[in-house]
Amino acid sequence: PMASSEKDAALAATPSDGPTIFDKIIRKEIPAKVVYEDDKVLAFRDVSPQAPKHIVIIPKLKDGLTGISKAEERHTEILGYMLYVTKLIAKQEGLNDGFRIVINDGPKGCQSVFHLHIHLLGGRQMNWPPG
Ligand code: IMP
Repeated sequence: PMASSEKDAALAATPSDGPTIFDKIIRKEIPAKVVYEDDKVLAFRDVSPQAPKHIVIIPKLKDGLTGISKAEERHTEILGYMLYVTKLIAKQEGLNDGFRIVINDGPKGCQSVFHLHIHLLGGRQMNWPPG
């Protein structure tokens, strides 16, 4: 389960359209363990992993996508591409027996960074229902 401190951080986070820590990672202003990068997306290891493999996949161009709840029809191409890249990374990471994809949205979804991202979790048995 999510550590309560992270849940508290998510609940305290103010949804905003401003820059986030992910912009700094994209611009290489702070280090990240990058596992995949191309012109459209960047993927790096989560700093607070919730599974042996925990990777965050983000679009390089936020274009208003603070979260999935803000998706517009113009975003469908990047959204589909992000899912495809997630599958490529799952294979690259050797997650051949299964994995979990998560998108948190808003306070009740425990979103803490307002730049759309897909969580890829694997390397252990995942549970259902999630917490
Ligand atoms: P959210 O809670 O769905 O918004 O996910 C944000 C994720 O970003 C959390 O799992 C954090 O651990 C992760 N995170 C925050 N800052 C960094 C960082 O600087 N590097 C890598 N991951 C980060």
